[in-house]
Order: sequence, then C-alpha cells, then structure tokens
Amino acid sequence: MATKILDGKWLSTQVQNEVAAQVASLMEKLGKKPGLGVILVGDNPASMAYVANKEKIAVVCGLNLFDNRLPATATQDEVAEAILDFNQNSEIDGILLQLPLPKGLDEKKLLDLIDPTKDVDGLHPLNQGLLIRGSPAPRPCTPQGALALIDLAYSDVNSDLISKNKIYDTAAIKPIDLSGKKAVVIGRSILVGKPLALLLLERNATVVMAHSKSKDLAQLASSADILVAAVGVPELIKGDYVKEGGVVIDVGINRLADGRLVGDLDFNSCKDKACAITPVPGGVGPMTVVMLIKNTVASFARRNGVK
Ligand code: NAD
Repeated sequence: MATKILDGKWLSTQVQNEVAAQVASLMEKLGKKPGLGVILVGDNPASMAYVANKEKIAVVCGLNLFDNRLPATATQDEVAEAILDFNQNSEIDGILLQLPLPKGLDEKKLLDLIDPTKDVDGLHPLNQGLLIRGSPAPRPCTPQGALALIDLAYSDVNSDLISKNKIYDTAAIKPIDLSGKKAVVIGRSILVGKPLALLLLERNATVVMAHSKSKDLAQLASSADILVAAVGVPELIKGDYVKEGGVVIDVGINRLADGRLVGDLDFNSCKDKACAITPVPGGVGPMTVVMLIKNTVASFARRNGVK
C-alpha cells in the first residue's frame, strides 16, 4: 500500500475552521473575543516568521492580537515586565513568549512568570506538573499537533485522497488508543520530546525516550510502531531507523546552507519503509500554530466560565 503522507497543512486548516466557528459562537455568547498576547524578543528571522504565521492564523480565527516586540538587547527585567503587563491585561487570555530568546536571557525564569491560566504554550512548571499527573492543563502545542497527526495516521482518512477545497469534519479523526504500540521519541526537550512522551503514555503507548546520549539509536528506533524525531539535526534519521510499516513523525525544522528547509528525517528513505509520514515543511509545523490558537480559545472559555 502507498505510504500515507500526513498533510499537516490540510489538517491544520480543518482545525482552524472549527476553532473559528467556536470563536464566533463564544463571541455571540460573551460579547467579546479571545485575546492572544505575543512577545517577541530580537530579530531572529525564523522566530519572526513563526510569529507572523501564528498572528495571521489568530486573526483568521477571530482573535484580538496584542503584540510586544522587544529589541535583542532587552534585559531580563524588561522581558519580565512585558510578561507581567500581559498577565494584568484582562483582555489577554493567552501569552506566547516566542522561543528561543536571545543569549543572556533566562528562558525558564521568564516562562515561570507567565500566569499559568494564560500559559497557552503549556510550558509553565505548574502546567507541566499537571501534565505529569494527567490532570487537565494546557498541553504544549507541538506535542499536541504531533499527536493529532498520529491520530490521522491510524484513521481511515487519507488527506491525499480528499478534495482540499472541501470542509472536512475532523470528528472522523478520533483520538486513538495506543495500547500495545511502542513509541520511540528521539529528543528530550521540555518543549517537545518530554511532553510528547507523556501524551503518548496517556494514550497507553509503551514509550521509549532517546536522546543525544543514547546508544544504538538506529536499533532502538527501528523497533518503534511510532517514531518521532525532535532533534534538530538535518536528515539524521535514515530509512534503516524505521520499522517496516511504522508511523513516522518529523518535528525537526532545519535550514540548510543552500536555503532548503528539511526535517530530522531523510524523507525519501524513511517514506519507503513507513506506512505514514509527515513532510517538512507542511507537517507538524502548521499543527503547532493551530494548537496555540486552540489553547488560547480554550483558555478564553475557561476564564469566562464556559465549559
Ligand atoms: P532541543 O535542542 O531543545 O532538543 C533536541 C533534543 O535532541 C535534545 O534532547 C538532544 O538530546 C537530542 N539530540 C540532539 N542530537 C541528537 C543526536 N545526534 N541523536 C539523538 N538525539 C539527539 O530542540 P527542540 O526545541 O526539542 O526542537 C527539536 C527540533 O524540532 C528542532 O529542529 C526545532 O526547530 C524543531 N521544532 C519544530 C517545531 C514545529 O512546530 N515543527 C516546534 C518546536 C521545535
């Protein structure tokens, strides 16, 4: 059977339509819109592009935007002040502190300052603790996006065979029970690898975490029914890392010297072995963006007492 290409651009558009409809209905009920506060420090071109995209989708979904740009020379206190200012603003339901921050700033200390009820990236220690407990809390966006693509992989829906112009009900893509499935997650950051491993555990997968100090990576990876690469090394994962018929998710976004954007997977050799695979670009990236907006709308609903 042909390998299913997990089209994150397509799936994110479907989720985006659903979020926009939810915003319209909440607006009718509450007479106000959700607000997203974005803090961008410095002028890293990749971060600027990510923020522009997140803001674009937020506006398309009907959110109000609050944007605070700080120079790369901003001090820890100045960034802290920007966060505290957004915490105080009752029109803001979600705060995005775009990472990475310029060198010299302590990311973790700044993330700790975000009001946990507005922590739509799910990176505050309270929310990460709730995730470990399996309690409700905003889940980090990239892991949520990757999990949605795993659900797409195991569903009967094949985005390659669907008219891209038709609005599709994503209810057909159900959260899958991963009992008996082995997942190998390569990468252990607090942004992607660790929270994704916890989300997979919540779905009953047997999870192995691999990282830069792991031995025999190819052997470990090739036993996985679900292989996720969140490493940041261009095309590290070759076809021999992939189990025949496995699901393969590429979180990596790497810019090569020639300007090309590639993932952590060597796409063609991995595609030959996998039953489903995400492309880069157009896989996990767009899902991350829409999950941020979804989390912001959920925070808005929660903060206004709407179930
Ligand atoms: P990170 O640098 O914080 O973590 C990378 C992890 O990879 C580390 O845990 C490290 O142990 C592991 N690693 C490094 N080299 C390795 C090797 N040779 N073998 C095995 N493991 C190795 O990065 P991150 O923030 O988790 O991001 C990872 C990648 O995902 C990057 O390319 C980043 O740009 C991308 N990313 C994409 C999205 C998206 O929306 N698609 C979101 C966040 C990050």
